[in-house]
Amino acid sequence: MFNGEKNFIFHGSDTVKLANKYGTPLYVVSEDHIIDRCTEIKESFLNKYENTRAVYASKAFLTKEMCKIVSREGIGIDVVSGGEIYTAMKAGFPMENVIFHGNNKTIDEIELGIETNVGRFVVDNLYELELLNALAAEKNKVMNILFRITPGVDSYTHEYISTGQVDSKFGIPLKEEILFEAINMAMDMEYINLLGFHFHVGSQLFENTSHLMALDILLELIRNVGEKVEFETKELNVGGGFGIRYTKEDNPKPLSYFIDPIMERIQDKCEEFNLERPKIIIEPGRWIIGEAGITLYTIGGIKEIPNVRTYIGIDGGLPDNPRPALYRASYDGVVANRMDEELVNKVTIAGKCCESGDILIRDLEVPEIEPGDILAVKSTGAYNYSMASNYNMIPRPPVVMIKDGVDRLVIRRETYDDILSREVI
Ligand SMILES: *Cc1c(COP(=O)(O)O)cnc(C)c1O
Repeated sequence: MFNGEKNFIFHGSDTVKLANKYGTPLYVVSEDHIIDRCTEIKESFLNKYENTRAVYASKAFLTKEMCKIVSREGIGIDVVSGGEIYTAMKAGFPMENVIFHGNNKTIDEIELGIETNVGRFVVDNLYELELLNALAAEKNKVMNILFRITPGVDSYTHEYISTGQVDSKFGIPLKEEILFEAINMAMDMEYINLLGFHFHVGSQLFENTSHLMALDILLELIRNVGEKVEFETKELNVGGGFGIRYTKEDNPKPLSYFIDPIMERIQDKCEEFNLERPKIIIEPGRWIIGEAGITLYTIGGIKEIPNVRTYIGIDGGLPDNPRPALYRASYDGVVANRMDEELVNKVTIAGKCCESGDILIRDLEVPEIEPGDILAVKSTGAYNYSMASNYNMIPRPPVVMIKDGVDRLVIRRETYDDILSREVI
């Protein structure tokens, strides 16, 4: 970590200077890192295998600027709500490269998706299928869809971020009587063009086994629906979930660790079943943006409970990063203005909310610190800004992007008046 500097330098930018310039708490996002990840996607997947596409799961971190960066890199986006569609539209994102997910899309959201010509609907259930067909008929448009399938695979991750098991709120269960009926219905619908299937096994995965197990099941399904209902699968979306490094304990793998076995399995099975290989789509979220982000805080009160622990208070916490409270997620951090000092204490980083669960990091090793020091928490790019709230009426932090050592404000800091602005009485 120590790079010969006193201050923590993140992708060429001095984080202490950023904290002084923009105030804290502050989200800092490296565009260089995002572009590096997009380049890896191109090299390990898009350029290596033909008939492939990649989309960024925008729920991880979505701003209009992010849409523009991803679009320039030739990558599509996943959305899961009307607000995400609207953001993409306002950013001028090519809507044919938008994939619309969600287990309970509302009528308004479906209409917005149709009006803006999103490229794919990933249909979660039969109610949605009928609704989409009816609403598309009103607008006289044929919508391209995939069915989301629950492959019945457990992934080795936290229960709340695992989605592929049988007992899941997402997707159509893999029961022939349900699924074949859905496929038949879709094929008969005038305003629906069924292209194939989607699955997403979970998040923050370090092993490729869940993807491979799900693929075995899906490829079998593709063969069966070809034979039994004469449906030819043109697209297969294998989801995201590729893991990143939050702490030293995490050992993320390169993208190729997932991609190559996935593509090999698909190729082998397609040859074995004598099928044309469908277009393959991946949709990483966290993997693109997670390590691109850090959050800067100012340290306040230091509370030493003798022989128990030392709490370090910071000027943010749960409202800007709910993941530790929500998933017991672990983070790592550094005291950004003391990078040249020895780590002599173990402390617990406490957020400022009125919740005992608002603890950001346990047992972080730090140098001798003082109020006013700057704490940088790493790998906060994904599911921090996008999950932020105004709990305790705390304004949300700004987002600063850095590229080639140059910083620019992308989202300004929220004000108290912003928080009150929707009150009508
Ligand atoms: C959240 C989500 C993703 C991305 O998950 P990551 O763990 O961020 O890669 C991909 N596909 C779907 C359908 C999702 O819901």
